[in-house]
Amino acid sequence: MQLLIGTGNAGKLREFAELLADLPYTVVAPADLGIDEDVAETGATFAENALLKATWYARRSGLLTLADDSGLEVAALNGAPGVYSARFAGPGASDAERNALLLERLRDVPWHARLARFVCCIAIVAPDGRSETVTGVLSGVIERAPRGSGGFGYDPLFYLLDDDATLAEVPAARKNAISHRAQAAAAAREVLRRWMVGDSTATGDRTTGEHRP
Ligand code: IMP
Repeated sequence: MQLLIGTGNAGKLREFAELLADLPYTVVAPADLGIDEDVAETGATFAENALLKATWYARRSGLLTLADDSGLEVAALNGAPGVYSARFAGPGASDAERNALLLERLRDVPWHARLARFVCCIAIVAPDGRSETVTGVLSGVIERAPRGSGGFGYDPLFYLLDDDATLAEVPAARKNAISHRAQAAAAAREVLRRWMVGDSTATGDRTTGEHRP
């Protein structure tokens, strides 16, 4: 059975294909199906955006579909940049520009008030309209200056208390073990597994047994 990952981002596609590798699905990308439009992220929450994207791709493809939305929430900024994480410093801005703006906004905020979390919400939508969302969260503190060269986005500013390092300083394997995305993907895998059991029941294995004379 095919599973569409509703994203045009090659990095995300690769990550999800790895995280879901043990499931009996053939992972396909929108490009494999000739779908090249983008979905506008008009939702007010990560879950709304993930569901919006997954629903759109499921309708468009007729396939079981998974899509995610993620971002950074900073307590001292009342949860900003949140769903606007990618657009925080305007369209076309670089990671470095977004990080500089975040530091500027937090300039007078003391260490103890710099709590933040990365959030990743994954929506899974079946062709029959059935849907479920799962969320992964990683907590940390916003540093006073960028540190490290790994990862991407806000990683150089995201300090992990347990590691005494930023997300850009820890090895990729460590990030992939604890990240908001990895946690959401693990939960998504459970949903897909559960749906698979439901599907095999629905296709008649058990019904056949019950009707055997
Ligand atoms: P989206 O899920 O592709 O919409 O990404 C939203 C934005 O959140 C990204 O462009 C990054 O700025 C930020 N973001 C999401 N996940 C991470 C992460 O793991 N590290 C650093 N930044 C992230």
